[in-house]
Amino acid sequence: MADGSVYLPFTDAVETATAPLWQKLRTRVTPLEWRLQAPLIAEINRLKREKNAVILAHNYMTPEIFHGVGDFIGDSLGLAREAARCEAAVIVQAGVHFMAETSKVLCPDKRVLIPDLRAGCSLAASITAADVRLIKQRYPGLPVVTYVNTTAEVKAETDICCTSANAVQVVEDIAREFGVDRVILLPDEFLARNVARQTDVGIIAWQGRCEVHERFTAADIAELREAWPNAKILAHPECPTEVLEAADFAGSTAAMSDYVAQRKPRQVVLITECSMADNVACDSPNTEFVRPCNLCPHMKRITLENIHDALLLDRHEVLVEPSIAERARAAVQRMIDLPPPAVPARYDLVKARHHVDVELI
Ligand code: SF4
Repeated sequence: MADGSVYLPFTDAVETATAPLWQKLRTRVTPLEWRLQAPLIAEINRLKREKNAVILAHNYMTPEIFHGVGDFIGDSLGLAREAARCEAAVIVQAGVHFMAETSKVLCPDKRVLIPDLRAGCSLAASITAADVRLIKQRYPGLPVVTYVNTTAEVKAETDICCTSANAVQVVEDIAREFGVDRVILLPDEFLARNVARQTDVGIIAWQGRCEVHERFTAADIAELREAWPNAKILAHPECPTEVLEAADFAGSTAAMSDYVAQRKPRQVVLITECSMADNVACDSPNTEFVRPCNLCPHMKRITLENIHDALLLDRHEVLVEPSIAERARAAVQRMIDLPPPAVPARYDLVKARHHVDVELI
């Protein structure tokens, strides 16, 4: 039973309305789970129409959320673009808090709800606006690029945002615009190191980590290769560089999805958050997914139940102080205004670069 609701039964009408979705999810969800999830999905979709709301669902949501109630689905960059274009009165962010802040920054007139206010992020928590101000004092004149996985206050101190799908493009564009050969790229150390391998622009990096991706090691990849010799191994650039070097392909969330959709490998391993594989698997029935399962505890705070309750009770609004929002918007909008990458970024194209210039703060 959901917190704000009465018990929702699995009726014939619910079964009929959700039948196509069941066909998609039946390899990921048991029939017993479906009897509990389907009524919530049907009711959430009804509430969305009633309240003129949309749900932005990140790739790391579980499949019943991602495929069942997400109106816009994708990675941080895709969701940020959709938030900017969206015409609904209410946005429910099925993701973590910094994503909801980004939606609010881009859509100040909309009501932005997050189903659980505790859904944080180890990267976003690794750096504060005061840290960025000190870094700017130490490196005057150098542009500051921030990964979108940061608070609005941090974004407000920076020149432009990036995601893993466009980080190399952003670093090179901003270096050209400022006429400099180094940029500050915050806060993910591994993303910064992996970007540095793809560009001649020098990188000054912070020591933030994603607690999901930092746990993968080259030894994990070696074990997977031994157990699944025919599987293609795809890694996310928030992983350590040694992991990317051992993988067959390294790219953003969107790039990994595209790889599976276009190349249709018989077996694949996605070295990233576990639910991503479940969501891609729903659309790739002929590919076998091997799952080295690292879950993000913050993403997993979002459930069908608390999405339902946020919508029903109109609760957990995310607000950003207007002067901060205005400055953060400039950094996010500058990124959005760049032409989308022709192809999603890859991080395995330059494996033998001799000089990788990274200075750790
Ligand atoms: S997966 Fe990593 S970067 Fe994404 S929200 Fe979780 S801790 Fe943050």
